Amino acid sequence: MNIDSSFFVRFWGVRGSTPCPGSEFVKYGGNTPCIEIRCNDRVLIFDAGTGLRPLGNLISSEGDIEADIFFSHAHLDHIGGLPFFGPAFNPKNSFRIWSGQLENARSMKDVFKSIMTAPLFPVPFEIFNAQLEFKVVKSGQAFTISKDIEISTANLNHPQGALGYRVNFDGKSICYISDTEHRPEGIDKNIVNLIEGADIVIYDATYTDEEYPNHIGWGHSTWREGIKLCDAASADKLVLFHHDPSHDDKAMDEISTLVERARPGTVVAREGMVLSL
Ligand SMILES: [Zn+2]
Ligand SMILES: [Zn+2]
Repeated sequence: MNIDSSFFVRFWGVRGSTPCPGSEFVKYGGNTPCIEIRCNDRVLIFDAGTGLRPLGNLISSEGDIEADIFFSHAHLDHIGGLPFFGPAFNPKNSFRIWSGQLENARSMKDVFKSIMTAPLFPVPFEIFNAQLEFKVVKSGQAFTISKDIEISTANLNHPQGALGYRVNFDGKSICYISDTEHRPEGIDKNIVNLIEGADIVIYDATYTDEEYPNHIGWGHSTWREGIKLCDAASADKLVLFHHDPSHDDKAMDEISTLVERARPGTVVAREGMVLSL
């Protein structure tokens, strides 16, 4: 696919919690979180859910690569694609791997090693031949990954913690806010500050308003809360993300109609969808 834009986001996995294959999930997709952001020729990957495997196939077809992978956190739905990431087997590739400080002082490298270990997986982590450099980010930290790409971060409200990211490039910005639960005491100022004036905000909208009361404390939010945050931050396009596995295409179509009415321009993330800036 030829995309005529120097700054875009492409969705490879939009489903929260667990992959959902099947004919009822064809339109929006069943892979777990993985998105790709391109800033000119640089590739930024956010989370390594099962959507990472097909993204890896694309990257492998483009030749050797140097890229950055950012983790929101280490829950299974955000790391499950890792062992199947083809480019990690190529010694000519190199990846910088960014994450927040994980619970129990474990590193993302420990997480990689633990999922690729007997009896969970047939071959060990050391089978990856690519150069992997692990970096830990403090929540709230801002940094640059090249002279023209700036990343800022914020703490999210999620069991064991999670990190939200904002990518600033060429005077525009894309934010990735998954996973997070809105705060009962009012709007989450950490998120409002991070997404202030952003062009695209990808937000954890796992539950509907009706479903949320049965899932308080699970660490996820709703599309109505996403709208409140984007309005408070004067952000432009809201993209609903991390869809609940119980929401089939029909349910997502209904949500899509409701959000378009509530905040025109809001979209529901679909596998393969590209948004350009
Ligand atoms: Zn998740
Ligand atoms: Zn999670």
